[in-house]
Amino acid sequence: MRVDIEDLSVEIAGARLVTDIALRADSGQFVGLVGPNGSGKSTLLRCVYRALRPAAGSVRLGGDDLHALSPREGARRLAALPQESASEFDFTVGEIVAMGRLPHQSAAGRVTAADTEVCADVLERVGATHLADRGFLTLSGGEKQRVLIARALAQQPKVLVLDEPTNHLDIAQQLEVLALVRGSGLTVLAALHDLNLAATHCDALYVIADGRIVASGPPHDVLTAELLADVFGVRAHRVPH
Ligand code: ADP
Ligand code: MG
Ligand code: MG
Repeated sequence: MRVDIEDLSVEIAGARLVTDIALRADSGQFVGLVGPNGSGKSTLLRCVYRALRPAAGSVRLGGDDLHALSPREGARRLAALPQESASEFDFTVGEIVAMGRLPHQSAAGRVTAADTEVCADVLERVGATHLADRGFLTLSGGEKQRVLIARALAQQPKVLVLDEPTNHLDIAQQLEVLALVRGSGLTVLAALHDLNLAATHCDALYVIADGRIVASGPPHDVLTAELLADVFGVRAHRVPH
């Protein structure tokens, strides 16, 4: 499912944090959002997963205005992992993944055999079947992130929005999480802080600085030495081929 962001601006308490954003993710594309700390990545993504309403502009999913959808309909199309993902859930892994099924259940919340099958399938896909009965709080950071991805996948969304999903993970876990995300085949919009990983995993990158998109396109076209110096203050940075 396609994501189209047009002329999007976000204000908080009268301050404009994000201005005139245009961004497009085609169906099945993995689009990375990169930019210095405080440039507006989370603010933009919060608008896309509806934690914030835009001051102007629109976010459309498959052509429909996201902010006009009901929460349930929105949750069937889009799943999000916020930057401050709830890491303190005192539930088992199985219970947390089952929460992903809520948008598909009746108001009474009756769990069907199909729900159970979806949960088992996504736990297997993220390699967490053996963790199903563990308390979430007892997991390592990498395991938690895999479980939260399983929960997002259990929503069977068309679009996945991730805010720095590899934070606090070691490099092997970072690669594992990005491989899972890529392998999902969903349309993905992810803020990423590691430019090398963004370059190697994304189909397209958008660079945000001071709340505005300053460059976009294929990673190797975007991450020029000049841009790295101007936007990130990075010199002699080499992006792998
Ligand atoms: P990033 O995710 O790129 O690090 P953020 O979107 O978190 O950036 O923040 C962008 C800017 O907006 C920063 O200057 C931040 O301090 C400011 N900001 C974010 N949230 C709020 C808020 N709730 N109230 C006021 N300012 C905020
Ligand atoms: Mg930040
Ligand atoms: Mg952020």
